[in-house]
Amino acid sequence: MSLIVQKFGGSSVADAESIKRVAKRIVETRKAGNEVVVAVSAMGDTTDELLDLAHEVAPIPAPRELDMLMSAGERISMALLAMAIESMGHTARSFTGSQAGMITDAQHGAARIVDVTPVRLREALDEGAIVIVAGFQGFNRDTKDITTLGRGGSDTTAVALAAALDADVCEIYTDVDGIFTMDPRVVPKARKLDVITSEEMLELAANGAKVLYIRAVEYARRHGVTLHVRSSFNNNLGTIVYDPENPAAAAFAAAHLKSIRSASAQGTESESAMEEPMIAGVATDLSEAKITVVGVPDVPGKAAQIFTIVAKSGANIDMIVQNVSSSTGLTDISFTLPKADGQAALTALRAEQEAVAFKSLAYDDQIGKLALVGAGMRTNAGVSALLFTALYESGINIEMISTSEIRISVVTRADTINDAVRAIHTAFGLDGDAEAVVHAGTGR
Ligand code: ADP
Ligand code: ASP
Ligand code: MG
Repeated sequence: MSLIVQKFGGSSVADAESIKRVAKRIVETRKAGNEVVVAVSAMGDTTDELLDLAHEVAPIPAPRELDMLMSAGERISMALLAMAIESMGHTARSFTGSQAGMITDAQHGAARIVDVTPVRLREALDEGAIVIVAGFQGFNRDTKDITTLGRGGSDTTAVALAAALDADVCEIYTDVDGIFTMDPRVVPKARKLDVITSEEMLELAANGAKVLYIRAVEYARRHGVTLHVRSSFNNNLGTIVYDPENPAAAAFAAAHLKSIRSASAQGTESESAMEEPMIAGVATDLSEAKITVVGVPDVPGKAAQIFTIVAKSGANIDMIVQNVSSSTGLTDISFTLPKADGQAALTALRAEQEAVAFKSLAYDDQIGKLALVGAGMRTNAGVSALLFTALYESGINIEMISTSEIRISVVTRADTINDAVRAIHTAFGLDGDAEAVVHAGTGR
């Protein structure tokens, strides 16, 4: 008997009708002879609405209470889903994160899973029940308090359950047909990928593709969990996220490709071999700001000093650019960081201006970041040239550049980012033949 973990996102359980539709799908999987464990998100935009409400009663809500509040969203959907399944004549049992043994550290709002002890889930499965677990939440053993895993955290719940229960596959059901070359809400010509390596998905997620939560991709990679991202609105096969180094995962991905090709009735044996496209996709991120430290003495130790100050402020740095030193012996250092960390970093730097001896600070929150990702970059020349040419031809100015082995990122003005991403999508031949379908959700 196979064990399948299925995760349903908020847009898939947005109202009573959707919950019944999802319940039917879960029952079908059970009837096909599988054990089923479900991780479910809060209905629709519930989490955002709860957050808005919290900020109406308190400018800075107490973190412990915020987690109590937000974890309620998933309690509602898990109970409704279990009821819907029961009313279809099947046994289902819902569990909160703490009942499911989702043990985390104590960091409210961004807790990390440290252990999973799914004893009660295993018992319920052995009794033949379908198990429904509230996503996004856990429990800390020291504080004995409820925690949440950070926005999009139900993906991580699903992956952690799949790892702990040794599931055959972890299916992530959402409102699009899989992972696309770019968010189809921004680029309707984006093409669905049949497979993607976890390394590439990690880069896309880290650079703003919110279809999968980055910590979930990391967790899956570390624990050898293969993901199948697909739509809860149809039965189409979606995208497999896999580690090519893992033979079982590679075989799973190859079988998936074969089924897709035979379904479209054009597959030949040789075509179903794994082919690695040069570029997997593009992602954009409008959540970052840029700080420029102007007039820094160009002597050893200044960068260390500046970034120690920034790190102590709790800010998470992304890109860094140091300008060439001018004849004055001064240089400018720019870096990007989440907008949410901006004020804390500025305050910390200002307090140390004399010690570092820089001239001034500039803060810019109107930047956009675009990342082009593909494992094929390792072995193909000319990727940067094509990228920069496409931006130039669209009249878009590049403000910062950074690269990894399989990624090139650029920073532009925020209001040019969508033009930039469409130009690049076309330049790299990523456009599909048809418009992508977004089945639901508000994209919030
Ligand atoms: P869920 O509620 O199921 O967790 P999310 O809203 O978190 O759904 O994620 C699905 C959304 O991710 C899609 O509706 C789409 O707008 C967005 N998205 C961003 N980048 C991509 C991408 N590369 N491929 C597919 N969807 C993407
Ligand atoms: N409900 C949470 C959120 O909206 C967790 C999730 O959906 O994954 O972020
Ligand atoms: Mg999500």
